[in-house]
Amino acid sequence: MTNLASLLSDTAARYGDRTAIVIGDMRLSYAQLDQYSTLCASLLAARGIGPGDKVALTCPNLPYFTIAYYGILKAGATVVPLNVLLKGREVAYHLADSEAKAYFCFEGTPELPMGQEGYAGFTATDSCEHFFVITAQMGAPSPIPGTDTMVGAMGGAAADFTGPELSGDDGAVILYTSGTTGQPKGAELTHTNMLSNALASDRLFGADAEHPDTYLCVLPLFHSFGQTVIQNSAIAFGGTIVMLPRFEAEAALQLMAAEKITFFAGVPTMYWGLLGVLDDSGVDVKALAEQLRVAVSGGAALPVEVHREFERRFGITIMEGYGLSETSPVASFSKFGEPVRVGSIGPAIPDVEMKLINPEPGQWDEVPEGEVGEIAIKGPNVMKGYYNRPEATAEVIRDGWFRSGDLARVDEDGWYYIVDRTKDLIIRGGYNVYPREIEEVLLTHPDVSLAAVIGVPHDSHGEEIKAVVIRKPGATVTEDELLAWGKEQMATYKYPRIVEFRESLPMTATGKILKREL
Ligand code: AMP
Repeated sequence: MTNLASLLSDTAARYGDRTAIVIGDMRLSYAQLDQYSTLCASLLAARGIGPGDKVALTCPNLPYFTIAYYGILKAGATVVPLNVLLKGREVAYHLADSEAKAYFCFEGTPELPMGQEGYAGFTATDSCEHFFVITAQMGAPSPIPGTDTMVGAMGGAAADFTGPELSGDDGAVILYTSGTTGQPKGAELTHTNMLSNALASDRLFGADAEHPDTYLCVLPLFHSFGQTVIQNSAIAFGGTIVMLPRFEAEAALQLMAAEKITFFAGVPTMYWGLLGVLDDSGVDVKALAEQLRVAVSGGAALPVEVHREFERRFGITIMEGYGLSETSPVASFSKFGEPVRVGSIGPAIPDVEMKLINPEPGQWDEVPEGEVGEIAIKGPNVMKGYYNRPEATAEVIRDGWFRSGDLARVDEDGWYYIVDRTKDLIIRGGYNVYPREIEEVLLTHPDVSLAAVIGVPHDSHGEEIKAVVIRKPGATVTEDELLAWGKEQMATYKYPRIVEFRESLPMTATGKILKREL
């Protein structure tokens, strides 16, 4: 298999009647999903779009995302999924940077007018020729005058379309990296990259097409985590994807109960959210726990406290994985069926190698055993490169090894423990302080619900340590009390000197805390 699109065609050929996607009351079978995506491919081909072309896609977690995604792949083009929160100016940047020729964009909602933003971006980009609106209601007219809808245009397309032959090295997806650091760059992932990760689900999670899972899809599909671990893995193993367009803890729990979810994947803040509403949600936690087969966390460090609490309430442990958009994304995972090591991101997954290198830019030598180093990854999941950016690519890939920017240590069995990101490091008076470590300590305080530790400029120390904290409901701990407590728990160079309490923290759409904004 060399083409990611064949995941869908193969599963539809074997299990056409099975439910592929559930959204609200609507159920879409594999046969229908396959047919609709073929129509979408046919529509693109009729507009002259094929191998080598890029097609952008803005769509929340709705079946249309998957239809367009596989339609673009079947046409032989590369999918460029965009974050649903982008403003017109940012859309224009992504369309121009990826050289997208066509753009499918959801009409949006009053709170999130993606259609308007998308169209503004499209009209500001000369190179993008075709714009299709995805309407919430199938068959509804376009709310943007003078534009076609995706479904309307698909209606005029030929149903007997056969896609072009592709090689595994052809581009499948360009993912713009999360943007918590620097200018967004497009990680170009090939069909082989994306397939290697999706097809590993049997070894990673015990996925089995004969006993398919029901996946709750709350991770945004435009991001690699949801795209691979939920969408593409479910399709590869004939599972059912239950979509929730926006994560809301209580709604997610209700849906888990109603649809008998067996597979949950989320970022740590989602686990935190679920645990926070568990007792008030009215759901039968015992029944929920019995049906849940796999719970995975990734995308950011899972606080040890959250891990333990989930285990206590659900009776199963959370498998933690690690990766980046650049690695399709999964590079390491706790081992299925083996006890997890709390705080560890697991060993490298099958067919992938990891090692720790000198974190200085330009240095690629391995660090001595037992020392903290920057994670480097080699394997079929590592991207071709940053699209149209050979210099940026050369900075991060050498001899097939990709350097991640994440600092870790490894135990004698090859299980990795993230210490921090190289860029997040706080240097206070010459001492390296890893914010993650301080956050873990703060979370053990009974009044602390969430904490983010950052460095702020300081005259004599260079940087000072500041903690931004959300208190638990009803908690009364003061800044002075928390400072004094921290002083008792941590070495002098580490404990926070400033505490600020907030009601919420700024987050990316994927649930990573935006430290830059703090
Ligand atoms: P993205 O490209 O948006 O997937 O972001 C990748 C980054 O997320 C990595 O470089 C890590 O800094 C972070 N990340 C992913 N998984 C984990 C994890 N399990 N623990 C800590 N950080 C993680």
